Amino acid sequence: MALFKATPPPPPEEAAEYPPDTLEQRYASLLAAKGKTDDNTLTNGFLRAILEFALREAASDIHFDPQGDTFRLRFRIDGSLEDKLAFSSKDFSVAAQLRVMAGFPPQAASAYSPEDGGFEAMVGDRPVRFRVSAFPSIHGDKLVLRVLDMGHQTLMLEHLGFAPDVLAQVQSAIKSPSGIFFVCGVTGGGKSTTLCSILKTLTRPEISIMTLEDPVEYMLPGVSQSKISPQAGFTFADGLRSILRQDPNIIMVGEIRDKETAEIAIRAALTGHLIFTTIHTISSVGVISRLVDIGVEPFLISSSTIGVIAQRLIRRVCPECAQPDTPAPQIVNRIVTRSGLAAKPILTAPEGKFVAAVGCPACNGTGYRGRLGIFEFLQLNNELKTLIDTKASVADLHKAAVKSGMRTMLMDGIIKARAGLTTLTEVLTSVSE
Ligand SMILES: [Zn+2]
Repeated sequence: MALFKATPPPPPEEAAEYPPDTLEQRYASLLAAKGKTDDNTLTNGFLRAILEFALREAASDIHFDPQGDTFRLRFRIDGSLEDKLAFSSKDFSVAAQLRVMAGFPPQAASAYSPEDGGFEAMVGDRPVRFRVSAFPSIHGDKLVLRVLDMGHQTLMLEHLGFAPDVLAQVQSAIKSPSGIFFVCGVTGGGKSTTLCSILKTLTRPEISIMTLEDPVEYMLPGVSQSKISPQAGFTFADGLRSILRQDPNIIMVGEIRDKETAEIAIRAALTGHLIFTTIHTISSVGVISRLVDIGVEPFLISSSTIGVIAQRLIRRVCPECAQPDTPAPQIVNRIVTRSGLAAKPILTAPEGKFVAAVGCPACNGTGYRGRLGIFEFLQLNNELKTLIDTKASVADLHKAAVKSGMRTMLMDGIIKARAGLTTLTEVLTSVSE
């Protein structure tokens, strides 16, 4: 992957506050300078303004959608896309510039192939890494930049938002000498961040850690990372077979999507390797049924699995405008129905500090700012292993997991709402069980 060192950062500003301007104003002034300044400088200036505003608004992704002669620019903020600007592709050749920065081949050479790459840039005084993906649409490249804010992102397992008792269980499970550990959740739910934080915890000179990723999101010092390329015939299954000949202790496989990869990974886990991977399912027990569905023998799953984290990101309330609140009875009723918990302990816990999302300029009137992980962690006891071996239903596995002490994502969300970090409404709309 090509690393592009962006143009030097602008001179530090006097005040720590950003100047009071908007992306539209910046765009208009660059447009007004056309003809007086060369196009490359203007395009770079425009791109820098886009990255700066994306960071300022804490966007996780930047979308450039070509629509005929114009580009529609959108930011994903707290999970939702927001329209920012439409600009003419004739005025600023942003797509061509991004292709160069991301290390893509010239467009003609790859007219119909999707690409992914990345670059690193100083935005203000922060080093930020961007993952870039290009997809050929009928109007030209559709480009999406994922913001990997290295200044903020420390990849500390302790900082991800696990409850202290769950964190201790996870830390103990990942120290197993062998076995397979799954992280599951929806796309954009923070799976890679969790996996990379785990690998960072385990990195030591005396052990060999190798990864197969698609794409590589974080650079991990001390870890041998590689990117699969299915178009070139280098799949997760092929990569895994080759990696096993490299004598690693720990392997991270970006995702398990098929039976072949699942079986190689599990057999490696049963022969002394520690494997970390993700599966696209919404709940922890869903991983078990997904593996059975794709054709993996149940006893292989029950004998190799050392832990399953399920997670998702929900919106955090804006600390500037959140107000103390007593949850409405209908919300509490829905929580009671969904979770099977009694209403009283939810509402009368001593740490009960429920808040309502109100809305202020700091959060664009939404009442929410930033995101927060909610988690569940499944470990297999004998009862669960027997249920897996007898192909029990997801509902029965879930029941047994809760009985064994697993705190579900819904429960974790309720605890976080009770601590005033988010609202019960947000938890309810984000978690389906
Ligand atoms: Zn606010």
